[in-house]
Amino acid sequence: MEPVLVSACLHGVPCRYDGRATGGPGEVADGGRVVPFCPEVAGGLPTPRRPAEIVGGDGHEVLDGRARVLDDRGTDVTEEFLRGAHRALAAARRAGCGSAVLMPRSPSCGRGVVYDGSFSGARRTGDGVTAALLERHGIPVRPADPT
Ligand code: SF4
Repeated sequence: MEPVLVSACLHGVPCRYDGRATGGPGEVADGGRVVPFCPEVAGGLPTPRRPAEIVGGDGHEVLDGRARVLDDRGTDVTEEFLRGAHRALAAARRAGCGSAVLMPRSPSCGRGVVYDGSFSGARRTGDGVTAALLERHGIPVRPADPT
Protein backbone atom coordinates (compact mmCIF):
# COMPACT_ATOMS: atom_id res chain seq x y z
CA MET A 1 0.00 0.00 0.00
CA GLU A 2 1.42 3.37 -1.00
CA PRO A 3 2.07 5.87 1.78
CA VAL A 4 -0.26 8.83 2.16
CA LEU A 5 0.86 12.44 2.59
CA VAL A 6 -1.05 13.90 5.54
CA SER A 7 -1.34 17.45 6.86
CA ALA A 8 0.97 17.39 9.88
CA CYS A 9 -1.58 19.23 12.05
CA LEU A 10 -3.98 16.30 11.54
CA HIS A 11 -1.33 13.95 12.86
CA GLY A 12 -0.66 15.59 16.20
CA VAL A 13 1.93 18.18 15.17
CA PRO A 14 1.11 21.59 16.74
CA CYS A 15 1.90 23.52 13.56
CA ARG A 16 -1.35 25.39 12.97
CA TYR A 17 -1.28 29.18 12.81
CA ASP A 18 -2.51 29.26 16.41
CA GLY A 19 0.15 26.82 17.62
CA ARG A 20 -2.25 23.90 18.03
CA ALA A 21 -2.75 20.54 16.35
CA THR A 22 -6.11 19.45 14.96
CA GLY A 23 -5.92 15.67 15.29
CA GLY A 24 -3.74 13.01 16.83
CA PRO A 25 -1.45 10.38 15.31
CA GLY A 26 -3.36 7.62 13.58
CA GLU A 27 -6.61 9.55 13.10
CA VAL A 28 -6.20 9.61 9.35
CA ALA A 29 -5.19 7.06 6.71
CA ASP A 30 -6.51 3.97 8.47
CA GLY A 31 -3.32 2.22 9.41
CA GLY A 32 -1.47 2.84 6.15
CA ARG A 33 1.93 4.52 6.24
CA VAL A 34 1.56 8.22 6.80
CA VAL A 35 3.95 11.00 5.77
CA PRO A 36 3.09 14.05 7.90
CA PHE A 37 3.99 17.38 6.31
CA CYS A 38 3.19 21.04 6.98
CA PRO A 39 3.65 23.19 3.87
CA GLU A 40 3.44 26.52 5.69
CA VAL A 41 6.20 25.64 8.15
CA ALA A 42 8.24 24.05 5.34
CA GLY A 43 7.80 27.27 3.38
CA GLY A 44 9.48 29.24 6.15
CA LEU A 45 6.61 30.60 8.24
CA PRO A 46 6.81 30.54 12.05
CA THR A 47 4.40 28.89 14.48
CA PRO A 48 2.32 30.54 15.75
CA ARG A 49 1.72 32.94 12.85
CA ARG A 50 -0.96 35.32 11.62
CA PRO A 51 -3.88 33.56 9.89
CA ALA A 52 -3.70 33.80 6.11
CA GLU A 53 -6.21 33.43 3.28
CA ILE A 54 -6.08 33.43 -0.49
CA VAL A 55 -7.26 36.76 -1.88
CA GLY A 56 -8.57 36.99 -5.42
CA GLY A 57 -8.91 33.31 -6.26
CA ASP A 58 -7.92 29.86 -5.05
CA GLY A 59 -4.67 27.89 -5.00
CA HIS A 60 -4.72 27.28 -8.74
CA GLU A 61 -4.85 31.01 -9.37
CA VAL A 62 -1.99 31.51 -6.91
CA LEU A 63 0.05 28.95 -8.87
CA ASP A 64 -0.79 30.84 -12.05
CA GLY A 65 0.21 34.20 -10.55
CA ARG A 66 -3.35 35.57 -10.60
CA ALA A 67 -4.07 35.57 -6.83
CA ARG A 68 -2.05 36.18 -3.68
CA VAL A 69 -1.96 34.85 -0.13
CA LEU A 70 -2.19 37.54 2.53
CA ASP A 71 -2.28 37.40 6.29
CA ASP A 72 -4.89 39.25 8.29
CA ARG A 73 -2.65 42.31 8.50
CA GLY A 74 -2.13 42.40 4.76
CA THR A 75 1.38 40.96 4.69
CA ASP A 76 1.96 39.04 1.46
CA VAL A 77 3.01 35.44 2.21
CA THR A 78 2.51 34.08 -1.29
CA GLU A 79 6.16 33.15 -1.74
CA GLU A 80 6.20 31.13 1.49
CA PHE A 81 3.02 29.31 0.46
CA LEU A 82 4.44 28.50 -2.97
CA ARG A 83 7.74 27.31 -1.51
CA GLY A 84 5.88 25.10 0.95
CA ALA A 85 3.70 23.63 -1.77
CA HIS A 86 6.72 22.68 -3.88
CA ARG A 87 8.41 21.16 -0.85
CA ALA A 88 5.25 19.15 -0.11
CA LEU A 89 5.24 17.84 -3.66
CA ALA A 90 8.91 16.92 -3.37
CA ALA A 91 8.31 15.13 -0.06
CA ALA A 92 5.37 13.22 -1.51
CA ARG A 93 7.41 12.09 -4.49
CA ARG A 94 10.41 11.16 -2.36
CA ALA A 95 8.25 8.97 -0.13
CA GLY A 96 6.29 7.48 -3.05
CA CYS A 97 2.94 8.80 -1.84
CA GLY A 98 0.03 7.89 -4.11
CA SER A 99 -2.44 10.30 -2.52
CA ALA A 100 -2.88 12.90 0.20
CA VAL A 101 -5.34 13.50 3.03
CA LEU A 102 -5.27 17.16 3.95
CA MET A 103 -6.83 19.64 6.35
CA PRO A 104 -10.15 21.06 5.14
CA ARG A 105 -10.50 24.74 4.17
CA SER A 106 -6.83 25.69 4.73
CA PRO A 107 -5.27 28.10 2.21
CA SER A 108 -2.51 25.51 1.80
CA CYS A 109 -4.20 22.18 2.40
CA GLY A 110 -7.88 22.76 1.62
CA ARG A 111 -9.44 20.66 -1.15
CA GLY A 112 -12.70 21.66 -2.82
CA VAL A 113 -13.51 24.42 -0.33
CA VAL A 114 -11.31 27.17 1.10
CA TYR A 115 -11.87 30.39 3.03
CA ASP A 116 -12.72 33.21 0.66
CA GLY A 117 -10.13 35.84 1.54
CA SER A 118 -12.44 38.02 3.63
CA PHE A 119 -11.25 36.67 7.03
CA SER A 120 -14.92 36.40 7.99
CA GLY A 121 -15.19 32.62 8.04
CA ALA A 122 -16.91 32.67 4.63
CA ARG A 123 -15.95 29.93 2.20
CA ARG A 124 -15.65 29.52 -1.55
CA THR A 125 -15.16 26.66 -3.95
CA GLY A 126 -11.52 25.93 -4.66
CA ASP A 127 -8.29 24.34 -3.49
CA GLY A 128 -5.44 25.50 -1.28
CA VAL A 129 -2.05 26.13 -2.85
CA THR A 130 -0.49 22.79 -1.87
CA ALA A 131 -3.63 20.81 -2.72
CA ALA A 132 -3.74 22.47 -6.14
CA LEU A 133 -0.10 21.68 -6.86
CA LEU A 134 -0.41 18.04 -5.77
CA GLU A 135 -3.53 17.59 -7.91
CA ARG A 136 -1.78 19.11 -10.91
CA HIS A 137 1.02 16.58 -10.52
CA GLY A 138 -1.19 13.51 -10.29
CA ILE A 139 -1.39 13.12 -6.52
CA PRO A 140 -5.11 13.09 -5.67
CA VAL A 141 -6.06 15.00 -2.54
CA ARG A 142 -8.94 14.17 -0.24
CA PRO A 143 -10.03 16.46 2.57
CA ALA A 144 -9.94 14.84 5.98
CA ASP A 145 -13.27 14.26 7.64
CA PRO A 146 -14.87 17.46 8.93
CA THR A 147 -13.02 18.96 11.87
FE1 SF4 B 1 -2.03 22.06 8.90
FE2 SF4 B 1 -1.62 22.37 6.30
FE3 SF4 B 1 -1.97 24.51 7.87
FE4 SF4 B 1 0.27 23.10 8.08
S1 SF4 B 1 -0.39 24.24 6.29
S2 SF4 B 1 -1.00 23.84 9.77
S3 SF4 B 1 -0.45 21.03 7.68
S4 SF4 B 1 -3.48 22.91 7.42
